[in-house]
Amino acid sequence: MSEQTLFDKILAKEIPSDAVYEDQTVYAFRDINPQAPVHVLVIPKHKMQSFADIRQRDAAEIGAFMQGVSRVAEQLGLERDGYRVVFNTGPHGQQTVRYIHAHILGGRQLQWPPG
Ligand code: AMP
Repeated sequence: MSEQTLFDKILAKEIPSDAVYEDQTVYAFRDINPQAPVHVLVIPKHKMQSFADIRQRDAAEIGAFMQGVSRVAEQLGLERDGYRVVFNTGPHGQQTVRYIHAHILGGRQLQWPPG
C-alpha cells in the first residue's frame, strides 16, 4: 500500500479543505497557497501517485478524471477567458505531494513559459 499523503487525508476529511466540487470520480478544493485568483486542485478518488501512472490505468477511468477536471474549470467560471491545467510530476516537476493532482489556474492573464 502506498504512503498516506496529505491529499489522502483531505479526501478522507481528516484534514479540512475548501471544497469547490465533488462527484463520484473527483474531489476539488482550493489550493492553500494560491498562485492566481483562482487556484484549485482536482484529485481522483481512486488514487494514483503521479501523472506517470496514468498509462497503467484504464482509459475510461482516466477519461472520467479528465472530464472531472474540465467540469470543475467550467463550474469555476473559467471557460470564457481561459485557464491553465498543470500536473507537476516528479522532482524536476516540483511535485511535492505524491497523490496525482491537477492544478487549475485562472482569473488573470498567465505568463509563458513557466519557471
Ligand atoms: P505540487 O507542488 O504540485 O505537489 O502541489 C501541491 C500543492 O498543494 C501546492 O500548490 C500547495 O500549495 C498545496 N497544498 C499544500 N497543503 C495544502 C492544504 N492543506 N490544502 C490545500 N492545498 C494545499
